[in-house]
Amino acid sequence: MTNSLHVVCPHCHAVNRVPEERLADGAICGKCNAPLFSAHPAELDETNFDKHVAKSDLPIVVDFWAPWCGPCRSMAPSFAEAARQLEPHYRLVKVNTEQSQNLAARFNIRSIPTIAIFKNGSEVARQAGAMDTGSIVRWIKSNS
Ligand SMILES: [Zn+2]
Repeated sequence: MTNSLHVVCPHCHAVNRVPEERLADGAICGKCNAPLFSAHPAELDETNFDKHVAKSDLPIVVDFWAPWCGPCRSMAPSFAEAARQLEPHYRLVKVNTEQSQNLAARFNIRSIPTIAIFKNGSEVARQAGAMDTGSIVRWIKSNS
């Protein structure tokens, strides 16, 4: 028996079942044929956020940010590097709080950047303020 995980495609948002040992093996989406992991954070919005959080067997790590926020822009390369290091065992995503104001309100995001971890549909940790790559990776690993 192989253990397979539900992985939500970052491009078309279809739910894929991937054998665990094939996760790191360049798995592609059965619906749109895009790579399920591209070593880069996925951009989510109000139309697809819930599907990722509810359906993914991987922890979802969200960077709540906005284009006008200087610290958010400075942290973006560190978050992208963290995605490269943590995939395919985590799904790192970005939510633009200016575009997705309902999500920011629903999760009561008071300051940005804020990073939050969701597992099995529920938030398990959050941290406000910019971090460097090493701190992001350590914080995610110790809170998930
Ligand atoms: Zn797809």
